[in-house]
Amino acid sequence: MAELLLGQLVSMAADPFVEGPSAARHWARGGVLIDAGRILAIGDAAELAAAHPGAHRHDYGAALISAGFVDAHMHYPQTAIIASWGKRLIDWLNTYTFPEEARFADPAYAATIAERALDLALAHGTTTLTSYATIHPASVDAFFTAAARRDMRVAAGKTCMDRNAPDNLRDSAQSAYDDSRALISRWHGVGRAHYVITPRFAPTSSRDQLAALGALWAEHPDCLMQTHLSEQTDEIAWVASLFPEARDYLDVYEAHGLLGANGIYGHAIHLTARERDRLVEVGAALAHCPTSNTFIGSGLFDMAGLKARGLRIGLATDTGGGSSFSMLRTMAAAYEVAQLNHVSLHPAQLLWLATAGSAAALQLGDRIGTLAVGYEADLVVLDLASTPAIAQRSARAGDVWEALFPTIMMGDDRAIRATWVNGKIAHQRPDEGHQH
Ligand SMILES: [Zn+2]
Repeated sequence: MAELLLGQLVSMAADPFVEGPSAARHWARGGVLIDAGRILAIGDAAELAAAHPGAHRHDYGAALISAGFVDAHMHYPQTAIIASWGKRLIDWLNTYTFPEEARFADPAYAATIAERALDLALAHGTTTLTSYATIHPASVDAFFTAAARRDMRVAAGKTCMDRNAPDNLRDSAQSAYDDSRALISRWHGVGRAHYVITPRFAPTSSRDQLAALGALWAEHPDCLMQTHLSEQTDEIAWVASLFPEARDYLDVYEAHGLLGANGIYGHAIHLTARERDRLVEVGAALAHCPTSNTFIGSGLFDMAGLKARGLRIGLATDTGGGSSFSMLRTMAAAYEVAQLNHVSLHPAQLLWLATAGSAAALQLGDRIGTLAVGYEADLVVLDLASTPAIAQRSARAGDVWEALFPTIMMGDDRAIRATWVNGKIAHQRPDEGHQH
């Protein structure tokens, strides 16, 4: 049976960084008609209700219906160590991340955390995650299995590391290739799963491993490839010492076949002019991780400058280096980081980054991330008055953007009335139950 969701709607027909806020269309009282996992129609609530009297109605009142949030870079295995105190990147990895990732040798533990991470994502309105797993193939199986149970479109891959990591967290060039290839055949394109070839970052892979993964990508060019790039200055110096032959950090990846339009490069803060030019030339995508960049003290991502170059940029929590599971909080951090660069991002730009922008970074911009006919029905319903502090501010709003901005800046999972995945309710706030 068709489902008709009623509420405020925002639909982005174009990139508001290019077209301005008018790229978005707003219905104060709109409807989204969905059936069999797809959006069949969007428009005026009364017209849709009259045209589809048999549809099962879900009236969300003044809540805002948006495309679900798409997290372009996170580490589901770090769910249990989010908000660990202190340390900068390399120390943080050694002190918190690696001991936790070693626990994923136990498939039962991997399954427990995968289930927890996906439930937290849905509770925060996130319908698609792009995750690093651990070096253990079973950690990838756990994630895709848990996502399939929830019918979520997700992307993930086995993290590959064959040096500069503890003994129990190292694979080899050959096993990284073999395991990744086996996981591609097991998962890529199965249901809503996308495999992502995943070297963690240059310092933890030998030249042989990087080259093996570059070869694997050449054999499976429709797979995404994700890695980290230029997150902290001491990390960049380390890369330069490990790869003295490289022109810069990005050149390490390019020299091993790991630069391309299906590549998603996380962080990308301290880029040289040459690196920027090269990323633009190949049409690569970047994942902006603002809560992580402030939490670990990495630096300020140049959103305005990089968007102006036409790069595809997604927004990402970078759990657990990031300090929140919430894409609302992540939008707020993106706003704050841009402010420190003397740029004020419009709420339409923030919402676009968290939905269509991330979807485009994943090369999924024709399926998810937008409320439009034919798109997959992955939706979030946002209460724009979820706390007394937010409610008293949004009550004074003159337009939808002014009404949304307090939720972006101060909202959390309490603002998520419902999360729809592939046309079905995947999560709803406890007080929603009686309405359906
Ligand atoms: Zn990361």
